[in-house]
Amino acid sequence: MYTTSGIKTPYYLYDLDLLRQTLDEARQAANQHDYHIHYAIKANNNPIVTGIINDYGYGVDCVSGSEVMEALHRGFPAEKIVYAGVGKSDDEIRQALENDIFCFNVESLEELQVIDEIASEMKKTARVALRVNPGVQAHTHKYITTGLDENKFGIHPSQLQEALNLCRSSQWLDFMGLHFHIGSQITSLQPFADLCQRVNEIWNEFDITSMGARILNLGGGLGVNYEDPDNNPIPDFQSFFSVIAENLKIPEHIKVHFELGRSLVAQCGNLITRVLYTKKGVDKEFVITDAGMTELMRPSLYQARHRIENISNSGETCHYDVVGPVCESSDVFGKAVELPVTRRGHLLAIKSCGAYAESMMLRYNMRARAKSFFKTSGKISPISQCKGGESITTEEGQFSRVN
Ligand SMILES: *Cc1c(COP(=O)(O)O)cnc(C)c1O
Repeated sequence: MYTTSGIKTPYYLYDLDLLRQTLDEARQAANQHDYHIHYAIKANNNPIVTGIINDYGYGVDCVSGSEVMEALHRGFPAEKIVYAGVGKSDDEIRQALENDIFCFNVESLEELQVIDEIASEMKKTARVALRVNPGVQAHTHKYITTGLDENKFGIHPSQLQEALNLCRSSQWLDFMGLHFHIGSQITSLQPFADLCQRVNEIWNEFDITSMGARILNLGGGLGVNYEDPDNNPIPDFQSFFSVIAENLKIPEHIKVHFELGRSLVAQCGNLITRVLYTKKGVDKEFVITDAGMTELMRPSLYQARHRIENISNSGETCHYDVVGPVCESSDVFGKAVELPVTRRGHLLAIKSCGAYAESMMLRYNMRARAKSFFKTSGKISPISQCKGGESITTEEGQFSRVN
């Protein structure tokens, strides 16, 4: 296996200064409207990354019992944890109740009944928000749209009244409000404006305020620029929250929450990989890298495209199909990618890998787990406080690594 001054490829490289800047901008933009952000931890659960997010005071959005337990273990306060997901098991529900999380985002009538039963057995109050499927088109890839009738997520408005009735009649359910999440990688603000219109209608139609609601959670989904990450490192949080503020018409005392994942972390991470081979095809040329769909699954899962750069060469360019080593034909990072002349041994940076890359890592083909490294210029580095931290200097700069 190749190594570069001690670092074995492939590896994730996180820019912690960019992460901090992004968290700062998002928080400032949200504060202007008194909005609360929960970080969707499924986007990236690297302990260094989540440690910084916790330092900035963000809550967490979890979609499994393990995420809830891990978030608690890492010091996120229980009163800032929300828990969504269409398939919460009885054990997961019990554990979340034991730990007094802030709120369950409930995705079906049957789940609500089960939470009610378990809460009653445990003699615990379950705080619940009802996730409504609003039928709003998010104009994103079909595998990452979640708010249409055909999607498995949320309660259809036709069943909402029954769910509200159960909340009203149960002594163990504390109705907190409504939850929505219409999809991911949404690059236009129009779907969010449409969502607000639907929320206003549903809020009034079902008289949610008089049900004692205290929160509205609008989920996540704000997209990032995968085509040109260097010129768009931080999403426009200001415009995003302004569109919400302009279009949302619910009483002022209702606290508005968000669950941002990708937009907070995607641009701060790159996947660094070494070219193992180049190979002539019939009318194309392949670049075969030591990273594959096991380290970055998005291209094979949803035909996602990430920008790829050759960091070992510049100048004259050619077109290459950049492919991984895994035994699947979908293990392709990009077709006809324009790169400087690329040879065995060169390093490539696959950009915008801070979200849904490391957290989706697979062990298929018995692949080894790729490690993570961190760049930071800040004086107080959280890495120095971590056990097992180590610093390495390479031709690409000084990195730190943990575990
Ligand atoms: C995945 C998810 C999010 C985060 O989505 P992003 O597109 O990464 O912002 C938020 N809420 C729920 C319920 C999710 O499942």
